[in-house]
Amino acid sequence: FALHKGDTVSEAHTQQAQLDWDAQGQPISRQFDDVYFSKENGLAETHHVFLEGNQLSQRFAELSSHQRFVIGETGFGTGLNFLCAWRLFEQQAPSEAKLHFISVEKYPLSLDDLQRALSLWPELKNWADALVQQYHAIHLGMQQLVFAQGRVTLNLLIGDALDMLPQLEARVEAWFLDGFAPAKNPQMWNPNLFRELARLSAPQATLGTFTSAGFVRRGLIEVGFQMQRVPGYGHKREILRGVFNPTIPTSYKQAPWYSYPTPTSTERKALIIGAGLAGSATAYSLAIRGWKVKILDRNPEAAQEGSGNPQGVLYLKLSSHHTPLSQLVLSGFGYTRRLLQQLPQGTDWSACGVLQLAFDEHEYQQQQKLLTAFPKELLHALNQAEAETYSGVPLEMGGLLFPEAGWLHPPALCRWLLSHPNIQFKPNQEVTDLQRVGKYWRALSYGTLIEEAPIAILTCATDSLNFIPGAKPPLKNIRGQITQLAATADSRKLNTVLCAGGYVAPVRQETHTLGASFALKATDLELSTEEHQSNLALLQEISPQLHQELQAEQQPLDQLQGRAAYRCTSPDYLPLVGPIADADLSAQLYAKLRQDARLRPNTPCPWIEGLYLNTAHGSRGLITAPLAGELLAAWLEHEPLPLPRRIAEACHPNRFWLRRIIRGQ
Ligand code: SAM
Repeated sequence: FALHKGDTVSEAHTQQAQLDWDAQGQPISRQFDDVYFSKENGLAETHHVFLEGNQLSQRFAELSSHQRFVIGETGFGTGLNFLCAWRLFEQQAPSEAKLHFISVEKYPLSLDDLQRALSLWPELKNWADALVQQYHAIHLGMQQLVFAQGRVTLNLLIGDALDMLPQLEARVEAWFLDGFAPAKNPQMWNPNLFRELARLSAPQATLGTFTSAGFVRRGLIEVGFQMQRVPGYGHKREILRGVFNPTIPTSYKQAPWYSYPTPTSTERKALIIGAGLAGSATAYSLAIRGWKVKILDRNPEAAQEGSGNPQGVLYLKLSSHHTPLSQLVLSGFGYTRRLLQQLPQGTDWSACGVLQLAFDEHEYQQQQKLLTAFPKELLHALNQAEAETYSGVPLEMGGLLFPEAGWLHPPALCRWLLSHPNIQFKPNQEVTDLQRVGKYWRALSYGTLIEEAPIAILTCATDSLNFIPGAKPPLKNIRGQITQLAATADSRKLNTVLCAGGYVAPVRQETHTLGASFALKATDLELSTEEHQSNLALLQEISPQLHQELQAEQQPLDQLQGRAAYRCTSPDYLPLVGPIADADLSAQLYAKLRQDARLRPNTPCPWIEGLYLNTAHGSRGLITAPLAGELLAAWLEHEPLPLPRRIAEACHPNRFWLRRIIRGQ
C-alpha cells in the first residue's frame, strides 16, 4: 500500500493563523484582513477597552484571598489582552487570589509568530516569555496552561467560538469581546454567540468591546446585558460596555449527579491514597491551589507500580470521529507536554517525536483518516525514506509522525510533581481502612491512624475499590510487561519512538524499553519469557533490522531484564475522575430514569461527603492523568472545567451507576 511504496500522501492542512506583517512590524490576519491590535497603541487600547471597560483594577484589588476571578475572551490572537490582564492582576490582586482566563481562538498563532508579535511590547517581556515557554501543543479543543506557580490559569478553547463556548462550563465575571471587527468577521458576531455569553455569565458580569456596531449592542441587550456607549480610544468615537442583569433568570438546569458537590469544609486539606502518576498529579494540582496535601503509598518510593516503567510513550490514540476519548487525549497531551517543559530533557524525557508506522492495511487506512481530521502541526505522514531518515534506523514502511510527542521516565515526573512544598509524601504506608469520622476521613493501617483530612482522594487503581462503600464502579487490571534491551552501536542511532503493535524507545541509560504485552487474565507480576518473546515479535514488526541488531547482543530470554505491572482500566476505556456518590442510594432516588433518561430531578445527589476518585488511566496515564488532576481540582474548587463538560461527564465516576439505572440492571 501507498506508504510502503513511498508514494506521496494526502495533503495536510493547517489550523494556524496566516499572518502578514506591515511596515511597522505589526501582524495582520490574512484570513480576516484585519489588524490584531490598534496600530496607534495596542497597549493603551487594551487598557481602555478591556481592563478599564471591566473596572479590573478595582475589582482585582477587592478580591479576597483564595478568590478566583474568571475572565472570558473571544479571540486570543497574540495574547496581548491576556498578558495585560495578568500584569494588572499581579499589581492589584492579593497574593493568594487566582486569575482564570478563558479565551477562544479559531486560528492559533504559530509559536514563531506569537514570539514576533509579542516582541513589539518590551514592557511585557516577563509575561510574554512565560507564555512563550508554555505555548506548545496548542491543538484543537480545550488546552489548559498554568503560570506563576498556579496563580494564573489560561484555558485556551481552540476552535470556532460558536462550537467551543457551548462546551464550556464556567461562570465568567468579565468579558473581553475581541475577535476582529464585526464587518470583517460577521460569522462570529451573531445571536448564538450572545446567547452563549449570557449562559456563561455570572450575575453582574461585565463586558468590554472595541466595537460600537448597533446589531452587537442590540443583540447583547436582548440576552440580558445593560449596554452603554462610551468614548473609544484614539480615533474611535465610541465603544460599548455592558453589565449582565437579565430580567428573566436563565433556566439552564444541570443534572444533580453531574453538578459540583457543595463543599462541606473550608479547610483546604486532602489526603491521597496512591503515589503513582494520578496521585502525584492530583496532589500537585491541589498544591498549586494552596491546598496542603498528604499523599500515602505502601511502597518506599513514588511510582513503583503502574507508573514505574523506565520509559513511557506519549502516544496519542486519536479518532477521526473526535470521540470523547480522542478529545481527552488531545487536551491531556497538551497539558502533559507543557508540564514537561519544566523538567530538563535528557534522562527524564525527550520530545523526540513518535512515529506510528503504517504496519498493515487497516492502520494505513486509519492514518489516512487522521491526516484529514487533524492539522499538520499535530501529525503528518512520512514515507518510508523520510521515516528512515527521521528515525535514524532502517525501516520497511512509513507512517504518521507526531513531532511534539516523545517518551518520558514517569517516576521522574512523579518526583517533580511531589516536590511541591505544599505536598508531604509519606512512603511505606499501607492504608487498610478509610473511615469517615465527623468531618474527617481517617486513613488507617491495620487499626493505627496514619492521617486524617476532610477530603480523601483515591488514586490507587483497583485498590481504590476497597475504600468505596456500597456498589463499586467496574475497574479491572490488565497486566503489561516491558522488555529492556541493552543498546548496541547501531541501535543508539534510533532517535525517535517507533510504534506499530508495540513500541521501542530511543536509548536511555544504556537500554531501550520495548513494550508492552497485554495479559488480560493474568493475576501475578512475575516476569514471563513468553511476554518477552511477544515483545520481541512486536519489535520485529517495527523493524526487522533493529530487531536482529538488538537480539544478537542480548541475554537468553529467561535472563532478559523487564518489568511487569497492572494497568487499571474501565469498560469504556475512559478514566474515572471526580466526586463519588452512594451508588445504592442513587439507584433508589433516581429510579425513574429507567422510564425517562432525560429527567433532571431536583433531588440532590447523595455524594459520599469528601470522597473523590482519579484512576483507570489504562496505558494512557502519561497523557490523561496530569490533566485529570486539574479536572479533579476543578470539581473540588468549583472552577471552570478544563475539559468540555461532555468529556468531564464521560469521565465522571457516576456514569456507571447512571447507565445501570437507565438500562434497568
Ligand atoms: N485578543 C487578541 C490579542 O490580545 O492579541 C486579539 C484578537 S484578534 C483582533 C481576533 C482573534 O479572533 C483572531 O486571533 C481570530 O483568529 C479570532 N477569531 C475570529 N473569529 C473567530 C471565531 N469564530 N472563533 C474563535 N476565534 C475567532
